[in-house]
Amino acid sequence: MKPMNERLVHMPRSGIREIMDVVEAMSADVTRLEVGQPHFPTPDHITRAAFDAAQNGFTRYTPNHGLAEVRASIATKISHDYPALEPTADNLVLTVGGVYALALVVIAFVRPGHRIMIPDPGWPNYTLQAITANATPLYYPLHQENRFRPDIAELERLVTSDTDLLVVNSPSNPTGTVLNVDDLEALLRFAHDHDLRVVSDEVYDKVVYEGEHVPLASLDTEGRVITVNSFSKTYSMTGWRLGYLLADQRTCQELTKLSEALISCPSSVSQKAAEAAITGPQDSVADMVDYYRGNRDLAVRTLADGGARFVTPHGSFYVFIDIDGTGLDSSRFARALLEAERVAVAPGRTFGPSGSSFIRASFCTSRHEVERGVAGIVCFLTSLRSHPDRRPARGVDHRS
Ligand code: PLP
Repeated sequence: MKPMNERLVHMPRSGIREIMDVVEAMSADVTRLEVGQPHFPTPDHITRAAFDAAQNGFTRYTPNHGLAEVRASIATKISHDYPALEPTADNLVLTVGGVYALALVVIAFVRPGHRIMIPDPGWPNYTLQAITANATPLYYPLHQENRFRPDIAELERLVTSDTDLLVVNSPSNPTGTVLNVDDLEALLRFAHDHDLRVVSDEVYDKVVYEGEHVPLASLDTEGRVITVNSFSKTYSMTGWRLGYLLADQRTCQELTKLSEALISCPSSVSQKAAEAAITGPQDSVADMVDYYRGNRDLAVRTLADGGARFVTPHGSFYVFIDIDGTGLDSSRFARALLEAERVAVAPGRTFGPSGSSFIRASFCTSRHEVERGVAGIVCFLTSLRSHPDRRPARGVDHRS
């Protein structure tokens, strides 16, 4: 038989999913801080709208780029939240989560063999999508000493003439960094100088504790930026699989053709749920963010009291914890922590080459779980640093 596509065979799995699989195979009671899955149920009025739509026979294919009325309500909400942006329904394509919106952009704008500049550390799926599109990831480092903000001089040293796309993610997964206007303008100038398309992943735009979220597209005078967003995190709708991208009309038309090839259209009932999310009361969003803020404060206090090194996250719901000096790389640390304390975290290496000496803990779960999980991390870090002889044998950190 002819072999499978080599690119797929060599593609690593996301390290987040791997640790999830390990946890799910364990019978023990585990505190789960490894995944970014808000623990709140989807607000009632959203679920009800989907239920009513399904009962009323709203169960057919929709246009490839989504229902006009849903796109129109998203456009109105964007104009309300960010007056510098004034999209119409024609500037939107509805997608199967933010992840599929990102994939569309990668397929559409990166030529085979060309490069994508990806934040390091950054969400693992950027790398997986680059591999899928037969492109090469080009990591730009974000240093802890610089609060994980991009250093344009470093991007200048790395960029090549065959680089097509720059990925920007603020608020960031995994670091919680929220880029300010100066950072964003510098990135746009860099993109202009090298004629790069930019995809701005803003799925955590509503989850901000300090400062404010500035949409990159609001500073873009050239139509370079394609914005990706999602209902998953803002409305606790991860399983509904609905997101969208915001771009110029021509881009939207081309990407709509691509959606016919790949998915035909997003789920009709999920679109109706999203419409209810956008047009209905927004207090549940504020309540959830307040709760995450409480979790964040608890996590950073416990980590600081325990002598851990980290940068306080200003947005998203993750803290990226430095494990340097423990003698363990991130994968072995995550496995050993799971065994010793029954706490699951994501190994930093899955977020890029610079993540080997970090772990990511998510705090979008219950207060009790955050309290127990972060205390477990501190306890484990302390025992490794004060009793190096208790370290498990050193291993090699794998991306997968
Ligand atoms: N972008 C980032 C940075 C994420 O962390 C995630 C999910 O964890 C996504 C995009 C995609 O989310 P979804 O496909 O559920 O909208």
